[in-house]
Amino acid sequence: MIYLDNNATTPCDPRVVETMLPFFYDQPGNASSRNHAWGWMAEDAVKKARRQVANLIGADPKEIIFTSGATEADNLAILGVLEQYRRKGAHLITLATEHKAVLDACARAEQLGATVTRLLPRPDGQVDLEALEAAIRPDTILVAIMWANNETGVLQPMQAIGNICERHGLILMSDGTQMAGKLPCSPREAGVHLMAFTAHKMYGPKGIGALYVSRRQPKVGLVAQQYGGGHEQGLRSGTLNVPGIVGFGQAAAIALEEMAATAERLNGLRSSLEAELLKVPLARLNGHSAHRLPHTTNICFPYAESEAVMMRFGQQLALSSGSACTSASVEPSHVLTAMGLSADEAHSSLRFSLGRFTQTEEVARAVALVREAVAKVRQASPAWEMYQEK
Ligand SMILES: *Cc1c(COP(=O)(O)O)cnc(C)c1O
Repeated sequence: MIYLDNNATTPCDPRVVETMLPFFYDQPGNASSRNHAWGWMAEDAVKKARRQVANLIGADPKEIIFTSGATEADNLAILGVLEQYRRKGAHLITLATEHKAVLDACARAEQLGATVTRLLPRPDGQVDLEALEAAIRPDTILVAIMWANNETGVLQPMQAIGNICERHGLILMSDGTQMAGKLPCSPREAGVHLMAFTAHKMYGPKGIGALYVSRRQPKVGLVAQQYGGGHEQGLRSGTLNVPGIVGFGQAAAIALEEMAATAERLNGLRSSLEAELLKVPLARLNGHSAHRLPHTTNICFPYAESEAVMMRFGQQLALSSGSACTSASVEPSHVLTAMGLSADEAHSSLRFSLGRFTQTEEVARAVALVREAVAKVRQASPAWEMYQEK
C-alpha cells in the first residue's frame, strides 16, 4: 500500500510511540495528583511536552492549551471568543475554504446570534486582502483564516492578514493544523492570536491537539466551552491525556529538528510527481503553484471521476478526493468549488499528500497507477469520447 494521504492523518513515528509507552504502564499517574510521585512524574512529563510543543511555534508554554485535537481547538477559539467579546460585537469573518471544524463552529456561532461573512478566495486559493479589509465592520470581533489548506496545500499570507487585523484591533484566529511541524510557523510573529493544531498530522498520536492562546500584546480572553476540574487554566477541564501529550511533545521536537530536511526532500518528490502527472492530457494544478506546502499537490484530471479512479487502485494506493459523503449524495469539495471549479472539475480532482515515510520508488509507482487508472476511466466515459471527437 502506498500511502499518499498524509494530510488526512500521518502514521505515528516509532520514536513517538516509544516515548509514550511508559505512561501507559510504569508511570500511569494523573498529572493533577499532587500527593504522590506518580502524579509528580506525570506533571513533569506534561511540563516537558508543553515546552516542546510551544517551542515548535515560538510560543510560551503558558500559551498552550491541550485539547483533544484541532477540531476542539477550533471550536474553543471561535465560540470562546464570541462569548467573551460579544458585548463589543458579534461579527465574524472567515474563508469559504476553511476546514469543516471552522465552518461548522462559525455556523454554530450564527445559531447563537452572530453574523458570519464567508469570503470567497481568489482562484489560486489565497484570500483577497482587499476583500478582507472591506468586510470589516464596527462590530467585527474575529477573523478566522487557516494557515495552510488541507486539500490544496495553499498558504495564506498570514503576516499581511495579521497586519490588517492589528490595524483594526481584531482578534486573528488561524487553523494551523497543516502548517505546524511542516514549515516554520510563529503565530506571535505573524500577528496570529489563536492557533489550532493537532498531533496526528505531524506523526504523533490521534486524540491530542492544542490551542495557542496569546498571553501578551494582546492577552486574548476566552470563555471555556467545557466545565469541570479547571484544568488548562480553566479553559479545558478534564484529566490530561498524559501519554498523548508526551507523544505530541516528542512529535513536535522531531518535527522541529527535521523540518528543513524533510521539507526539502518532499518538495523534490512532489515536483517529480507533479511533473509526471501533469503530462496526462488536460491535467492541471488546483491552487497557487508557489505559495503552498512542500508535500501536497491537488490535480484535476477532467473526464476522470476521482471516485472511479480511486476505485481502480484497490489496496495499492491511498489518495483523497476532498468530496464529502452526505446521506443523499457525494458533495464535491467545498474548497475546490469555492476556488471557482465546477462540480465536475472538483469531482475529477485528486489530492496527493506525501509524508516523512514516503519513499522515492513509491512516487514512481503511484504515477504509473494514476496514469493507468485515469486512462481506463476515460475509456469508459462517453463525455471523454465526445470531447475527443470534437
Ligand atoms: C485534520 C484537520 C483538522 C481536524 O483535526 P483533528 O485533530 O482531527 O480534530 C482541522 N483542521 C484542519 C485544517 C485539518 O487538516
